Parts: sequence; C-alpha cells; structure tokens
Amino acid sequence: MSGVGSIGACLEEGARCLAAAGIPDARRDARLILAHALGIEPVTILGYPERPVEDASRYEGLIARRAAREPLSHLTGRREFWSLDFEVTPATLDPRADSETLVEAALAAIQDSDAPLSIVDFGTGTGCLLLALLSELPNAKGLGIDIAEETLAVARRNAARLGLAERALFAIGDWCDSLAGPFDLIVSNPPYIPAGEIAGLQPEVAKFEPRRALDGGADGLDAYRRLGPDIYRILDPGGVAVLEFGLGQGPAVARLMSAERLIPQGFSTDIAGHERCLILAKR
Ligand code: GLN
Repeated sequence: MSGVGSIGACLEEGARCLAAAGIPDARRDARLILAHALGIEPVTILGYPERPVEDASRYEGLIARRAAREPLSHLTGRREFWSLDFEVTPATLDPRADSETLVEAALAAIQDSDAPLSIVDFGTGTGCLLLALLSELPNAKGLGIDIAEETLAVARRNAARLGLAERALFAIGDWCDSLAGPFDLIVSNPPYIPAGEIAGLQPEVAKFEPRRALDGGADGLDAYRRLGPDIYRILDPGGVAVLEFGLGQGPAVARLMSAERLIPQGFSTDIAGHERCLILAKR
C-alpha cells in the first residue's frame, strides 16, 4: 500500500485492495480492520478521515491476510452474536446471524423463562447458542459439549467474559455419549455440509473454518443420525429440542427425527426466508 498517511487514505487503499481480491463487503471490512489495527471504534474511522496514521504496518498486514480470504473474525478475534461479543479462533465455527433463528425459536418454545431449566448444546463451538440462551434465561443452567479441547477453551473464556460462567459448564464429549439427562432444552447446530461440497464453499469457510464443524458426511446428515436416538433418550418428556440444518435439509431432518419417535413441532425461518431449524418434542 502506498501513500497511506491518514485514516481516510488507509481506508481507501484497504478497500481497493480487498475489492481487487473479490471480497464482497470490501469497504466495510477495511473499516473494521482499520479500527481493530488502530485500536479505535469503527465510527471514529468515518468521523475523522483526516487524522494521521503514524504506522500502518499492522493494518497492511491484516489487509493482506483478508485479501487471502482469511475470515474477518479470525483477524479481529471477535464476532457479535445475539448482541453479545464472542471470541472466535480458528478452532471454532464463526457464529452466523442465521443461528440467531435457533435462539429465537428455542426462547419462543419455552413457557416459563424464569424456570430453572437445564440446557445442553451439542457441538458448542464458541458457546454462542448456549450463552445467548443463558443470557435470556436467568435461572437456567447449561452444558456445552464439543469434541475438541481447544474449542472448549474458547467457549469457557466466552462464558467468563459474558459473566455466565457460573451457569455454563463446558465438557468434552462425542455428541451425547455418556450423558444421562434429562434436559429441558436441547440445541445443536451440528456440521451439515455434505463432505463433497466443502471444497466448493467460499474460501473463508473451506480453507479457514474447522472441518469438523462443517463436515456432515456424504449427505450432510450424519450428525442428525447420531443425535436422533440420544435426543429422544435424554430429552425431558416436557422438553424441546431445536436443531439447525442447512438449505433444503428440513424435510430429511424431520424424517430422521420422526423415525426416532421425536415429534416435529414446526420449522423456524431465517431472515432470508429459508427454513433454518426444526423444533422437536416427545409429545
Ligand atoms: N454451536 C456453534 C455455532 O452455532 C458451533 C456449531 C458448529 O461448530 N457446527 O456457531
């Protein structure tokens, strides 16, 4: 990058560089990266374009990584979900706005939000689903299960920073193995991408997100096959389970769960209008 001397010039150069690399939201990403690199708020970037930038080297390094399609969340280490601030690392899936649909659906399915509910989240990643739920359910306690210790460490830090550590326990596990329940609320956003489709996803996902968080086996439905019988076993008779799934997978997931005697209560639709999660109960 040449001629960077002011905030405005940095922003222009960075945005141009990212646009040339085919980044869809080049300007926005450049602004967020610049704010992160300078340790200032993104609004300051817009308000004070003439301010001098003494040393743009950190910014330039981050712009180069973003141009190589590394996700923004990996550069800043942060992602907002449910208006809460989450730490994100290469060991976790980047929380998606679409998954807020699951949180909404689960909250809507709960009759008494002051009840001392027990929640479990399978494949917790950053812990975003469980922690968003706990932030809305003041007397609930939750367990987040993940297969990788390095991922759980991130979830635990997120719980601590959000002041939810007393009500959130994170433990290593292979889905529901060795869990007895019963749980009032079961949630999961399991890996659901058909294995053969991962390489064709955008590079931010295919190259930088943990494969174990994406890969749903040959047809994308392996995790649901694993989860189905166990959800029936550990779900309280009056409880609900809410499962996220990929585009067009709703009917197949509902069929798999029905075969395990779980009763589909309906789908929830994301902001783009796609069926995004399935609500299940035992009766
Ligand atoms: N539960 C986490 C999320 O929704 C991680 C999901 C995953 O790794 N598949 O972001």
